[in-house]
Amino acid sequence: MKRAEFLKVGLALSLAPILPHQSSVAKIKDSIRLLRHATLVINLGGVRFLVDPMLSPKGAMDPVQNAGNTERIPLVDLPISDQELSNILEHVDAVLITHTHRDHWDAVAQNSIEKSKPIFCQPSDLSKIKEIGFKNVTDISDKLEFQGIRINRTGGKHGTGDIGQRMGDVSGFVLTKGNSRVYIAGDTIWCDEVKNALDQYKPTYTIVNAGGAQFNAGDPITMTDLDIIEVANAHTKGKLAAVHMNTVNHCIVTRAILRERLAAKSLSNRVYIPEDGEQFNI
Ligand SMILES: [Zn+2]
Repeated sequence: MKRAEFLKVGLALSLAPILPHQSSVAKIKDSIRLLRHATLVINLGGVRFLVDPMLSPKGAMDPVQNAGNTERIPLVDLPISDQELSNILEHVDAVLITHTHRDHWDAVAQNSIEKSKPIFCQPSDLSKIKEIGFKNVTDISDKLEFQGIRINRTGGKHGTGDIGQRMGDVSGFVLTKGNSRVYIAGDTIWCDEVKNALDQYKPTYTIVNAGGAQFNAGDPITMTDLDIIEVANAHTKGKLAAVHMNTVNHCIVTRAILRERLAAKSLSNRVYIPEDGEQFNI
């Protein structure tokens, strides 16, 4: 044995007792990180999804019109540095877009996400996303498999009556890997589509878009505290988190209000309300 090889083997042997055995290496935990509003990074079985990216800095976009106030949006900055954001955009395996309203898919996201990144969307948004240059866009009408994760599309209602119609198509998605089933409900109120998705998939984790977004006239177009209570009561086994608050001017149910109303119904322990930037295990 040559001296160099001897040293190499010797080094390997001397390190052996302190290297953890393969089976004892902690597996990366499945997690969800809320960046802001509905923008999430979900890590499931080592596959990372960026959901509904709205990446503009604070105040970069006009307010939602007819919403009772005229504050420019987003109301707050992203909680991460530009460097950390580029890192996330580079390393996510795919982007999942529930619908293309600008609080879920804004100009900064469109310009800063690599055009070859795999993107999944609902069928009615396919051409819109392709037209701006994305080359690897796949619509999901029912389900597909991506890197060992099953993705099922679910329905929803972005409001009632005429306003709901004008808001257009919205979708949710269920990501399944082994026993983990993560349901991203998307921009929907409590409705049959959500109830059916809970019944059919029995998600282990459900993320609902709260905020009770509302215009000057008409019913809310995203979940209010009452909608979330319905979700919590309909599916008592899975965990539940509420996002889509404190960022866009038409969302009138803030985290503080939601917390207070859930506490009044003794449901604080059932609904997790993450802060921007917070990561939690699935
Ligand atoms: Zn929204």
